[in-house]
Amino acid sequence: MTDLSRPTAPAAPAASAASQPGLQPDSHTATTPPPLWLLAELTYRCPLHCAFCYNPLDYTDHHRELSTAQWLDVLRDARALGAVQLGFSGGEPLVRDDVEVLVEEAHRLGFYTNLITSGVGLTDARLGALKEAGLDHIQLSFQDSTQQLNDFLSSTRTFELKQRVATALKRHGFPMVLNCVLHRYNLPHVDKIIEMALALGAEYLELANTQYYGWARENQAQLMPTREQLEEAEAVVARYRRTHGERCKIFFVVPDYFETRPKRCMNGWGAVFLGIAPDGAALPCHAARGLPGLALPNVKDTPLREIWYDSDAFNRFRGLSWLKEPCRSCDEKEHDLGGCRCQAYLLTGDAANADPVCDKSPFHEQVVKVVRHAASAATAASPQAAAAHEQPILFRTDANSRRFSSAACASGEAEPRGNNGARS
Ligand code: SF4
Ligand code: SF4
Repeated sequence: MTDLSRPTAPAAPAASAASQPGLQPDSHTATTPPPLWLLAELTYRCPLHCAFCYNPLDYTDHHRELSTAQWLDVLRDARALGAVQLGFSGGEPLVRDDVEVLVEEAHRLGFYTNLITSGVGLTDARLGALKEAGLDHIQLSFQDSTQQLNDFLSSTRTFELKQRVATALKRHGFPMVLNCVLHRYNLPHVDKIIEMALALGAEYLELANTQYYGWARENQAQLMPTREQLEEAEAVVARYRRTHGERCKIFFVVPDYFETRPKRCMNGWGAVFLGIAPDGAALPCHAARGLPGLALPNVKDTPLREIWYDSDAFNRFRGLSWLKEPCRSCDEKEHDLGGCRCQAYLLTGDAANADPVCDKSPFHEQVVKVVRHAASAATAASPQAAAAHEQPILFRTDANSRRFSSAACASGEAEPRGNNGARS
């Protein structure tokens, strides 16, 4: 899995709905552009247990998956709306046995398709079938360049399997994005991660610093790096870009906690991105499930066109009219649109507030405190002193997820955290 707010696969070919037989461009409104990127989260099931997984903490509450026929309808409806780029994600999408069917239809419809996978389940036979079905691209995740850390952070023994999968997918002629989520533990290995990507023949390497939503938010105290670690890693990346940039394009996604202006999240709410969760809930951003009071429409009972153009969820933070101060009167609002709604909620308790990464936000100190805490934990005199700053890593497991389920929260067995409430 990866930072899905910033797709790094090669740009999709400039296809349009009108170019496909039987598809007409949607002409609902001149003011709202159509979605360009569809993310089909086929399942929340996954054999890995990553400490930074972006899936919702209570994913076990949403385990009922759309059927193959329902997914096929989603693909056709999204393409008719104008979407051109399609990611199959999860969880681990390959736990479903219909991925090949979906890829084939997506290819027929004219989507540029990308499979986002941990590699588990990507057998030689499935690679051949996916190639034949017309899959364009594969994004394979690693947790680190070392077996020890890769296996620890995913709580599985998958490092060698991933290496074999990388070799096999090149043999089948797929272009590959190798993805690695970065944090305090593997930032010092960035040179080795790049060397591994080069050795495996990756055309693209996405080094995505952890975004603190979902499980990563729960493990923030453990994962947050120091500014020095980031600066050193950036210097390494710059060096490799100079020497190997032709062979492998390296993306380095900076964590916004270290900035003073927020990212233009999702390139605008309801602007280009349309996510569909395993149970059919439509997501304006992949972390939107954690925003309270945002009723997510579902493709099982609402047409996709209505969801995109008319639903409250997709209109709530669209454009600029909803902005509160200090964003409303800010001369930079066209640039960042007030930043990330989920981050605003997690750190301030109100999703309509300015993203507190911004130093004009009255809540910016929340972000500064987290960065300061990471620095003090990293410079503690001894591992024991460091441990005093830490809490055990919470792995993404069904048992842990059930602690955040609505039933557990309602009965008082679990305190809503992370996705469910602002914390200082
Ligand atoms: S557990 Fe890991 S591999 Fe599985 S969906 Fe989450 S981040 Fe991806
Ligand atoms: S005040 Fe709001 S619009 Fe202005 S820079 Fe900060 S987040 Fe962006």
